[in-house]
Amino acid sequence: MDKDTRYIHGTNHEVSLRGKSIRGKSINLYELKNVKFAYEKELTVDIDSLQVTKGKITTIIGPNGSGKSTLLNLLSKNLKPNEGEISLEGMDISKISRKEFARRVSMVHQNNTAPSDITVEKLVQYGRTPYKSLYSLGMNQEDREKVEWAMEVTDVTCHRDKPISNLSGGERQRVWIAMALAQATDTIFLDEPTTFLDIKFQLEILGLARSLNCEYGMTVVMVLHDINQALHYSHELVALKDGKLLEKGEPSCIVRPEIMRELYDVDLEIADVCGNPFVLTV
Ligand code: ADP
Ligand code: MG
Repeated sequence: MDKDTRYIHGTNHEVSLRGKSIRGKSINLYELKNVKFAYEKELTVDIDSLQVTKGKITTIIGPNGSGKSTLLNLLSKNLKPNEGEISLEGMDISKISRKEFARRVSMVHQNNTAPSDITVEKLVQYGRTPYKSLYSLGMNQEDREKVEWAMEVTDVTCHRDKPISNLSGGERQRVWIAMALAQATDTIFLDEPTTFLDIKFQLEILGLARSLNCEYGMTVVMVLHDINQALHYSHELVALKDGKLLEKGEPSCIVRPEIMRELYDVDLEIADVCGNPFVLTV
C-alpha cells in the first residue's frame, strides 16, 4: 500500500487523504447535474452543478428553509430528485441498491427518535443492518468489532447498557453518530449535529467530525448554523439559498461580507484573529 493512502474500518477501502489523490488532484465523490426536487409545486432544490470532494469536510450553510436538509436527503437517497442526476463515484445513485448504498453512505438526521427504553449498544447495533440478510440476522465477529469501534470512537462505550432516555442531549447525539459509524461507510452526513447542544458538546461533536476525517479518512458532509464553526472545521463550504447553489469554495473565500449579506440578508463584520477570519455576530 502506498504510504499516502490508508485503509479504514479494517476493510480494503482505499481512500485518499484530504481529498487529494497521490498526484495531488482532488477527487469528486459526488457529482450533481441539473438536480431539481419539489415537495409540492415549488422547487425546494434546484442545483445545476455541484461536486462534493472525496476525503474532505464539506459544510452546507444557508438560512432556515433554504433546502439544506432536503439536499442531504437527496444525497443520501432518502429522497429522489424529480429531474437530474446525482452520481457517487461516477455511478448514478438511483442505480445503486439500497443495501449497497447503505454500506457506502450513512446519515445522522436532524431529529432522531427511537424507543426511549432501547439501550445504547442495541441502537448502535442497528447500524449493522446493511450487512445482514435473512439467513444471518445475528451479530458475527465483524459486526461486534465494528460496534465496539463505533462506540469507542464516539466515547459512549461506558453507556452501553443504559437506555438512551437516560443520556444527555450531547451523549445521545454521539450515540446516533456511533450508529452511523457502525455502518462502516466511507462517507457520513451530519444534519445540524450541534444544534441544541451546549458549547462543550458542540466542540466535542465538531472535534469528532474532524477526527473521522483526518484519522479515519472519511468524507464528512454536514449542515451547521454557526458560521465561525463552519469556517474553522471545514475544507469547503456550500452556500445554499432558496434551494440554489449560491457559492461553493474554501471557507475563507465564502465567508466574506458580500456573500454573507446575499445569503442571510444581514451585514456582518469579519475580523482577523491571529490570521484567522472570525465573523462578528453581535
Ligand atoms: P433547511 O434544512 O435549510 O432548513 P429544508 O430542506 O428542511 O430546509 O426545507 C426546505 C423547504 O422545504 C422549507 O420551505 C420546508 O418548509 C419545506 N419542506 C421540508 N420538508 C418538507 C416536507 N416533508 N413536505 C413539504 N415541504 C417540506
Ligand atoms: Mg434542516
